[in-house]
Amino acid sequence: MAVKSKRFRIGTTHIRPGETKDVYLKISEYFTGDPISLPIRVMRARRSGPCIFVSATVHGDELNGMGIVHDLMFGPTIRLQKGTLILAPVINIFGFESQDRYMPDRRDLNRFFPGSKTGNLTSRVANLIFNEIIKKSDYGIELHTAAQPRANFPNVRGDMKKAEVRKLATAFGAELILDGRGPDGSLRREATKAGCPTIILEAGEPLKIQEEIMQIGVRGVLNVLKYFEMLPGEPEKPMFQVRASRSTWVRAEVGGILRYHVSLGESVAAGQRIATNSSVFGEKQNVLRSPVDGIVLSLKTLPMVKPGEPICHIAIPSRSLTSIRKKITQHRRKNNNERGDQLSILNVSRSEREAEYYDRGED
Ligand SMILES: [Zn+2]
Repeated sequence: MAVKSKRFRIGTTHIRPGETKDVYLKISEYFTGDPISLPIRVMRARRSGPCIFVSATVHGDELNGMGIVHDLMFGPTIRLQKGTLILAPVINIFGFESQDRYMPDRRDLNRFFPGSKTGNLTSRVANLIFNEIIKKSDYGIELHTAAQPRANFPNVRGDMKKAEVRKLATAFGAELILDGRGPDGSLRREATKAGCPTIILEAGEPLKIQEEIMQIGVRGVLNVLKYFEMLPGEPEKPMFQVRASRSTWVRAEVGGILRYHVSLGESVAAGQRIATNSSVFGEKQNVLRSPVDGIVLSLKTLPMVKPGEPICHIAIPSRSLTSIRKKITQHRRKNNNERGDQLSILNVSRSEREAEYYDRGED
């Protein structure tokens, strides 16, 4: 599906080889009848090559991806050797305006792809995005954060059974890759099904632009562009790459206030303490433990919980924790932790935050 022809169009705007253009793609209309448009930058090299889209904020409150796209736009100039790069910083412009995950009709845009020309509001918007961006691309990278009120350890997700998705996910260079097709109607699942292999980055918290996440996201996108020789240089390899195809949630048993004993990216053994739940008087009520050996993928950021609420998402890696810990320690020793960033590195040590207070008495 590489853009072989010299003609490339988004909406009514033509972008010729060697050109970079900012396009406003009309996506819907205000009550006033005025157009609502998506901002999209298209960069084309003179030489033909793959077309890759990078999209963010399909959930309107997930802003880290927008920050990553901005850094790609305004960081060191991207001079493509070949191919086309489509940068879409905000694709759910409605949710973005209202600082909300959803569309104004309370639907989740990321469950309505490929959408329909004659469907509801969300379905029509999804259809336009699908036809104007996804169908014109050969590969896709979609940028997400955790939903409220949670934080995600940076991880890439994609259908690893598909060779092209596997290439993308590996080239991106995240430490943790979660294997899965994604929910029905999600952009990545439907794009991949339609012949545009797509991965997502899940990183950080909603309603924030987090510098450490920018670093990971920008590096990942540049790695993919290098992998396809759209940019010069070799992709930067991660310290270690772990795959997981299963995961599990730890849920609150009783209502109360949580104190965590683990942090994002920490490797935890089955039976290890995840959090202590206290009453409003500070009395310990129960201790939540990991049911599996795994890696802490997501944590609830709001400490108040009700029974049944998910508080910790644990990825179950395809290899043992002992082998992962050994590899990471070896790699760190050898490379002196050269990438220097905090969040992308799996944390092998047990958290220091197990306060003495909680060590008194039985768990
Ligand atoms: Zn999302």
